[in-house]
Amino acid sequence: MSTETGEKLASLQKEPLRSAYEVIVIGSGIGGLTAASLLAARGKDVLVLEQHYLPGGSAQTFPYRQYRFDVGPKLFFGMDGSRGNMRYHQQVFDEIGEYPELSYYDTYYSFLHPRGVLRVTGSVEAYIDQLVAAFPDDEPGIRQFYAVLEELHSLFMEFPNFPLDSTSGVMSTVLQARPDKLARLIYWSFVPLGKLFDRHIRSRELRAIINAEFVAFCYSDIDDAPAVLAALVLIERHKGGGAFTKGGSGELARLLVRGLQKHGGRIQYRTMVQRIIIQNGQARGVELTNGEVIWADYIISNAGVVNTFGRTGTNVPVW
Ligand SMILES: Cc1cc2nc3c(=O)[nH]c(=O)nc-3n(C[C@H](O)[C@H](O)[C@H](O)COP(=O)(O)OP(=O)(O)OC[C@H]3O[C@@H](n4cnc5c(N)ncnc54)[C@H](O)[C@@H]3O)c2cc1C
Repeated sequence: MSTETGEKLASLQKEPLRSAYEVIVIGSGIGGLTAASLLAARGKDVLVLEQHYLPGGSAQTFPYRQYRFDVGPKLFFGMDGSRGNMRYHQQVFDEIGEYPELSYYDTYYSFLHPRGVLRVTGSVEAYIDQLVAAFPDDEPGIRQFYAVLEELHSLFMEFPNFPLDSTSGVMSTVLQARPDKLARLIYWSFVPLGKLFDRHIRSRELRAIINAEFVAFCYSDIDDAPAVLAALVLIERHKGGGAFTKGGSGELARLLVRGLQKHGGRIQYRTMVQRIIIQNGQARGVELTNGEVIWADYIISNAGVVNTFGRTGTNVPVW
């Protein structure tokens, strides 16, 4: 899209909103736009309602004078369809027929810590070497710890990507796995990463570094995160590669908006949903802050749990 401003985007949406759609998506974060663009590509009549004047939520890029600022994310994993095992982005891009322009750097990001710098690159071995150089007393433990994670990662690699949209597809993918391998993955899903770490490594400083990564990336510390998750966070990040979207993370949102619009979907900016209307226990419509009501067969909220179950005033229990 040639424009970045909400005013120009608004020119695309002059037509008044209809009183009913098949699907309403509240919020144009990456989650909402992914759902909306995929549904539009599959022939659904989709309306996205966004309170802000730009798409993307946390992942938006806003212009200021000659500069562009990212609100939040910059680095994305699993964008490169030719690498790694997490190709979900690629599935979405293929389906909506839009692809990002990506930039790559040798170092995705670095940690500054009291003993130096840890650079996260496309090589697990190079990362282990840095850890060993910083924590030489723990070399055997670090290598054993990573050996377990690499083994778990290869177990994951043996699974094809789970289908995005079908519980039965997920089940049949799981059932195709060899029982012993499946059992191993299940076992490590119940072991906290902190426990695996403590089995092999003594350094509290290294524990704090890995913990900080988990809190930053998974919103969970290593005593709560399952060890199996580390196979993805600590191994796949190297093997799958990290990439930056050219022009900022907002380009990802714009790409999804293009996918939505070209498949007949619509996004309406500066439009805040005040309430989700529940009838007979089902979400059936939304009331906007101007009092307008729009009906839909399905409502998808991308507004977050608190906003959805709190401020929008529904009595839907949180479970
Ligand atoms: C500082 C920071 C850095 C990050 N760095 C990275 C990174 O490098 N890599 C990475 O992969 N992830 C990163 N993340 C995480 C990533 O940005 C988020 O996980 C992701 O963008 C969340 O998307 P979402 O769709 O869940 O929701 P959100 O982005 O929260 O979108 C919700 C949308 O709903 C709209 N909305 C809410 N209520 C209403 C309402 N009542 N009516 C209408 N609209 C409404 C909001 O305006 C918003 O547009 C970072 C996050 C932050 C904050």
